[in-house]
Amino acid sequence: MTDVGEAAITALATAMAEAMFAHAGELTDLDQAIGDGDHGLNMKRGFEAVMAELPAIAAKPLPEALKAAGMQLVMKVGGASGPLYGTLFMTLGKEIGPAPDRQELAAALAAAIAAVKARGKSDTGQKTMLDVLAPVQAALAAGASIGEIRAVAGEAADATVPMRATKGRASFLGERSIGHMDPGARSSQLLVEAVCGVLGG
Ligand code: ADP
Ligand code: MG
Ligand code: MG
Repeated sequence: MTDVGEAAITALATAMAEAMFAHAGELTDLDQAIGDGDHGLNMKRGFEAVMAELPAIAAKPLPEALKAAGMQLVMKVGGASGPLYGTLFMTLGKEIGPAPDRQELAAALAAAIAAVKARGKSDTGQKTMLDVLAPVQAALAAGASIGEIRAVAGEAADATVPMRATKGRASFLGERSIGHMDPGARSSQLLVEAVCGVLGG
């Protein structure tokens, strides 16, 4: 397999950034309902920083590009989600090779999710981004098609609506967190969809 090159890295980063820009208002509205109303702005700021550095990032081999993008997210997103998404991308960069196949990608995503859990002292079932990332990783590992992975991400984000948050700001609301989609679950869904779109789904 040939390395994931500059054009592919540019396309992936651009698709993820455009998804965050297009849905910033929606993410902020979701966070308004069960958090402090800044998730859309946080993600927009983070991906603006990635786009500002894109020529330098995309010129790197995939592992280094992922680490560099993750650093931008840690530095610029702020909030709880910045270090968590930063950890996700940086760990992917550490675990993945320059030309990953499905199994390598699935293993790297599993390691990245474990790193997010360690950083966030969190697990699935707590109404967070992990409730989308974990089922997507499982689908990827099980050989799901791109269309199936998109569907899994959408269903997983929807499934956070009836959940009661026990991590992050939404947990302060207790029972009142029930009935709203988790903003980080939605942003994870959007990022997964953006990647699927570039990979051909
Ligand atoms: P903040 O809550 O600091 O304002 P954001 O609004 O940007 O940060 O991000 C909130 C999202 O971060 C939540 O919707 C949730 O998905 C995710 N999140 C928060 N805390 C954790 C955690 N400990 N583990 C995993 N995800 C978390
Ligand atoms: Mg917030
Ligand atoms: Mg905040």
